[in-house]
Amino acid sequence: MLQQTQVERVKDFYVRFLDRFPTVAALAAAAEHDVLRLWEGLGYYRRARQLHAAAKTIVADHAGEFPRTLAGLRSLPGIGRYTAGAIASIAFDLPEPIVEANSRRVIARLAGHAAPLGTAAGDEPIWELAAGLVPQQHPGRFNQALMDLGALVCTPEQPLCGTCPLAACCVAKQTGRVTEIPMKAARREVKHVCETAVVVRRAGRVLVVRRGPGEWWEGLWDFPRLPGAARVARRGIERSDVLSGLACGATSRLGTIEHTVTHHRITLDVVACAAGRSGKAATGRRWVTATSLASLAMTSPGRRIARMLG
Ligand code: SF4
Repeated sequence: MLQQTQVERVKDFYVRFLDRFPTVAALAAAAEHDVLRLWEGLGYYRRARQLHAAAKTIVADHAGEFPRTLAGLRSLPGIGRYTAGAIASIAFDLPEPIVEANSRRVIARLAGHAAPLGTAAGDEPIWELAAGLVPQQHPGRFNQALMDLGALVCTPEQPLCGTCPLAACCVAKQTGRVTEIPMKAARREVKHVCETAVVVRRAGRVLVVRRGPGEWWEGLWDFPRLPGAARVARRGIERSDVLSGLACGATSRLGTIEHTVTHHRITLDVVACAAGRSGKAATGRRWVTATSLASLAMTSPGRRIARMLG
């Protein structure tokens, strides 16, 4: 949960999640829909699916016991180098390094490493330095201290070098390059995209579709979408796999939602129309009442649209 998300935001989700799935076995036995529903609002749903998949792997391949080696940890879905190092050192006391945003900055400054960071290749020298620093005794405590130092003392802007316990051995401090290190990697450009969500109504129900493999929010429910803003999207209804054959009538505008997904800023026009037919039944497609939307695991813009419907 803490990958890409701050502790304050995670707290309530964590408590609710553990209440519902107190053991690995309970999580492994859960339906994906229930896992995603509890994750709703936390974002980055891939984490939920991978956590679920990891629980299943632990039950199926490791007799329900968490693997206790770095290789075993990394073989689980969703556990990369950083998370494996964190579990190995903090939970199992293994002398494995952790490189994340805070410890990366501290180590780069300590070593005077003035090269762009934040990519696998750029961070490799930092991993090597971190591996050389982590002690045999209390590696978890050491790793946590390094991360805390980065979060509280060696901050991105205006680090507190005057009170830093490592000032005497910090190359960046001694060479006056604290503000230059770490070097910033080039930012990815944000792409602006226009889409239209269509609330199709028929017999007191609305049509929802499930996001498919490889799509943003895979596995979550959403309203059907068309490329382009509302004025151009209207023409796409008959060509759309989901909406063609429903005999959709004229559309009326409900509003516009702005949201962001991985370097994409999306302007989402929301329109409503009535369907003359319900179309063929298909998996990943449901007609639901407005009240039953509450129990579906929905994308965050989908949830905002559901609220528009009252
Ligand atoms: S001396 Fe300053 S730059 Fe160096 S580790 Fe401490 S806070 Fe960071």
